[in-house]
Amino acid sequence: MSKYLNPVYKDLESYTPGEQLNDKNYIKLNTNESPFPPSCEVINSLRSDNIAKLNLYPDPECTELKEKIAKLYGFLPENVFLSNGSDDILNFCFIAFCTKERKVAFPDISYGFYEVFANFNNLEAEQIPLKENFILDYRDYCNKNKLIIIANPNAPTGIAITPKEVEKILCSNTDNVVVIDEAYVDFGADSCTSLVNKYDNLLVVQTFSKSRSMAGARLGFAFGSKGLIQDLNKIKYSVNPYSVNRMTMAAGIAAIESNDYYLKNCKEIIKVRDYTSNELVKLGFEVTNSKANFVFAKTDCISGKDLYLELKEKGVLVRYFDKDKIQSYNRITIGTKKQMDIFIQTVKKILEEVQA
Ligand SMILES: *Cc1c(COP(=O)(O)O)cnc(C)c1O
Repeated sequence: MSKYLNPVYKDLESYTPGEQLNDKNYIKLNTNESPFPPSCEVINSLRSDNIAKLNLYPDPECTELKEKIAKLYGFLPENVFLSNGSDDILNFCFIAFCTKERKVAFPDISYGFYEVFANFNNLEAEQIPLKENFILDYRDYCNKNKLIIIANPNAPTGIAITPKEVEKILCSNTDNVVVIDEAYVDFGADSCTSLVNKYDNLLVVQTFSKSRSMAGARLGFAFGSKGLIQDLNKIKYSVNPYSVNRMTMAAGIAAIESNDYYLKNCKEIIKVRDYTSNELVKLGFEVTNSKANFVFAKTDCISGKDLYLELKEKGVLVRYFDKDKIQSYNRITIGTKKQMDIFIQTVKKILEEVQA
């Protein structure tokens, strides 16, 4: 730290991204990326004349991409917001929709970045405890008068709530915004996009990072009422109007045009997820009912941390969280069937060693 840093940020605890190691060829099941490459159309979009135009700024309105997304999801372009990853959009929500009087609330077990954004924006966050077995009770979120952020399906548990439950939350929070973070919705949960035209306090946030194999491109999008989208644009145009660059924009358009490819990949991930869950249960693990591209599992035989370390030693990376309530768990991203078979075999070996 230098002596020049604004003291406000002195004790800021920033986000710890999942490990991106290069010391050996790991099977990487730790950051919820897709094991599948982007579609051929996406790859080709990066070879075309788009690259020759890098001397020119990108369209800050993202007009074509916005229209394509709006059409695919049945919205008007005025209901669509785009930025550099959904993390960017979530941060804008804290900036735009919180005040000293109207703070923020989210579940105690959820996406780690929410707490970071709350601290960064100097907001005291109310972390609402999940019920037993990581169940989210919608009644805990009614009449809050705070910005509410819910990942649905939740991370790292993978457990989803229904749009009906979200609707109850929306009805009782008409004076504040409710953000539903649907980073994993394409893997089997019901989306709340159908509620956007009915509730002007709802913002549904999604990303190209997980189901569309574009974590490296940084592209997030959100659906909301015209007013909410205007608010987010006010923030974006005050920070960086060009947050979606030319290459990402071209890739995003191509990804929407090859939607069938991604739907097929999602189906495969769901199949392999359910297979992996079953195999883990056979090995004596307790596994949550995940609707995401990961499973969340624990066993009495070995602690979450030790299993993570043993797997890493043997070339498989998973995510372990050093946090009360979930310390005994690991979050395992769903890779290809072949990767998951190696994962299961490796777990088997570790359990045998532990029990020997
Ligand atoms: C991965 C993830 C994000 C971030 O997605 P980006 O678009 O890559 O920034 C947001 N929310 C949740 C719950 C996530 O898991």
